[in-house]
Amino acid sequence: MHDHPTHCSNSPGQLHGYDCHAARCADTGHPRLDRGHTGAACNTRWSGHRPGENECRDCGLLIHPRADNADLLPLPDLHRLHAECEWGITRQRMALRGRETAAGAEAGQ
Ligand SMILES: [Zn+2]
Ligand SMILES: [Zn+2]
Repeated sequence: MHDHPTHCSNSPGQLHGYDCHAARCADTGHPRLDRGHTGAACNTRWSGHRPGENECRDCGLLIHPRADNADLLPLPDLHRLHAECEWGITRQRMALRGRETAAGAEAGQ
């Protein structure tokens, strides 16, 4: 049901493998398999979590799998993450639209 991208076998803290499905582009935040990212310049490190999961929790973008079962843990809502957030290149993470813009400006880019 949940089409999580398949991660390469690299350990947390290591760069993703070249063709890893869970690797994000450091420049755009999009999966590196989307379109031609040449070389390793925009490769990212595996955090130990699927791309977007931590941001979903930080932004409160969560889905409850079953409203009638409070024992089930809420899941990250990756669809809302991509709809409502944008990639922050300075922080290397997704943030709600508008917030990262201000943070990027203060970094003087
Ligand atoms: Zn990987
Ligand atoms: Zn790239």
